[in-house]
Amino acid sequence: MDGLLIAPATRRQALIASACALAILLTLALAAPRAHEPLPAIAAFMPMCALTVFTTSGIAAFLLGARFAATRMPMLGALGGAYAFTAIAVALQLLMFPGVFTRNGLLGAGPHSAAWMWIFWHAGFALLVIVAELVRTRASADTPTPVQPRASVARGWLLIAAPAALAALLGLLVTQIDLVQPWRASTAAPLPSPTPGLAAHFAANLAGLAICALNLAAIAVVLLKGRLRLVLDLWIVVALLASFVDAALNTLSIERFTLGWYVARVFSMLAPGVLVCVLVWEVSALYRQLAEVHASLVRTSARDALTRVYNRSYFDTQFLLACERAAQQAQPLSLVMFDVDHFKRYNDAYGHLQGDACLAAVAGALARMQRPGDFVARYGGEEFALVLPDTDAQEAYAIAGRAREAVVELMIPTPAAGGQITVSAGCATSGLADVTVTPTALIEAADAALYAAKRAGRNRVAIADSNGADSVASSLSS
Ligand code: GH3
Ligand code: MG
Ligand code: MG
Repeated sequence: MDGLLIAPATRRQALIASACALAILLTLALAAPRAHEPLPAIAAFMPMCALTVFTTSGIAAFLLGARFAATRMPMLGALGGAYAFTAIAVALQLLMFPGVFTRNGLLGAGPHSAAWMWIFWHAGFALLVIVAELVRTRASADTPTPVQPRASVARGWLLIAAPAALAALLGLLVTQIDLVQPWRASTAAPLPSPTPGLAAHFAANLAGLAICALNLAAIAVVLLKGRLRLVLDLWIVVALLASFVDAALNTLSIERFTLGWYVARVFSMLAPGVLVCVLVWEVSALYRQLAEVHASLVRTSARDALTRVYNRSYFDTQFLLACERAAQQAQPLSLVMFDVDHFKRYNDAYGHLQGDACLAAVAGALARMQRPGDFVARYGGEEFALVLPDTDAQEAYAIAGRAREAVVELMIPTPAAGGQITVSAGCATSGLADVTVTPTALIEAADAALYAAKRAGRNRVAIADSNGADSVASSLSS
C-alpha cells in the first residue's frame, strides 16, 4: 500500500480529471465575456473564501507532509510547501484586508499590503509547484523509495516549513516597507471599492497576466516532468488550471462584486480544495484497503497452514468465548477430540510428506461435519477438536460418529490393523446436571474419553459421563 496518490493514473481517473479540467475552462469561457457585470455586493464573500482557502490549504499541506513522511518523496514535501505558503499568505492577506477586521486592516497594514499579499499568494503557489516538479525524481515518483535516515526526513519537513516562513516574511515586508501602489489596487481597497483609473487597470492586467503566465508555465512543467503518469499529476494540473482561471478572471475584472470577481473567488477555493478532496479520497481508500488486508491477515493467522482448519491459538480464544457464551445463555456446549489411530505407523511406512497429505484429508473430512456456528481446529500433531455450541451430549455423540465414518470413507490405506486410516473420538458436554464445567475441565473430559476410546480398541467414539472428567460412560465402536 504505497499510496494511491502516487499510483499510476487509470483511464477512469484520467477521464474524471479531464472532465474537471474541461468544466473549469468552460466556466472561464462563459464568465470571461461577462466578467465586468456587477452583482449584488456580499461583503462576507471574500473573507469566507479566504478562510476556506486558508483551511483547505492547511489541510493539503498537512496531508502532503504526512504522505512525504511515509514515502520520503521530496516532491510531496515541496507540494506541501506550496500549500503551506498559500495558507499563510492568504491568512495574512485576510488579516491585512481593509474593512474585514478593522477599517485599515490588522498587523499595521498599509493601504496596499493586502494587494501585495494577493500577488505573492498567487505567484508563490505557481512557483512552488514548479519547484516541487524540479525536485521530483523519476525513481521516487514511480517506485517506493527506500527508508532514509531521520535527518533527511527532517530536511524534507523543511520543504514545508520554509515556504510557510517565506510567506510570513513577505507579510512582514509588505507591512514594514511602504510599498508602492501595487497592480492589484482594487483587491485591497476598503469597502466600498473606489473606481480604479485606467493606469491601474493596465497595471493590474500586467500583474494578472504575469500570474496567469506563471500558472501556465507550472502546468507545462508538470506535463513535461510528470507526463500525467500519476494520479497526483492529474489533480495538480486541475488545481493549477483553477488557479489560472482565478488569476485570469481577476485580470479581466479588476472591480470587486462583479461576476468575474465572484467566479474568481470560487476558483481560488478550488485550487487547494481539489487536492484536499483527492487526499481525503486517498485516505479513505487506504483505510478500506487496510481493513481488507487486516481481515485477510486475521483469517490467515487463524488457520493451520497444513490442514486449513483453524489453528490452536484460534481454538484457545474461541473455545473460551464459546464456553462463556454457553454459560451466559444456559446452553449446552459439546467438545469432541479426535486423534488419528496408529498414525506413527503410517508415517513410518509412507514418509512424512504423505503423512501430511493424510492429515489434510482427515481434517477436510472432519470439517465437512461442521454446522453453522461449529468449528474444527487442529489441537496439535494428529489431534483435532470439534466445538459444537448449543449441542447436547447425544447430538455431539451422533456428530462424532458421523465424523468417524467420514474418515473411514476416505479409504486411506495404512499398514496398521484394519488397513485404513481411522480416528478415535472423545466427547464431553458442559451444562450437564449438577456439574459446572470449566473450559479446562471440558477439554480434560473430552481427552479422557478419547483415551478411553483408544483403550477400547480405536476407531470408535467415547462419551464422558456426568460425574467428572476422568470417567467414561460409554465406549461405542463402529
Ligand atoms: P495412537 O493410535 O495411539 O494415537 O497412535 P499414534 O501412532 O497415532 O500416536 P503417536 O502419538 O505415537 O504418534 C503421533 C504421530 O503423529 C507422531 C508424529 O510424527 C505424527 N505427526 C504429528 N504431527 C504431524 C505432522 O504435522 N505431519 C506428519 N506427517 N506427522 C505428524
Ligand atoms: Mg494418534
Ligand atoms: Mg496423538
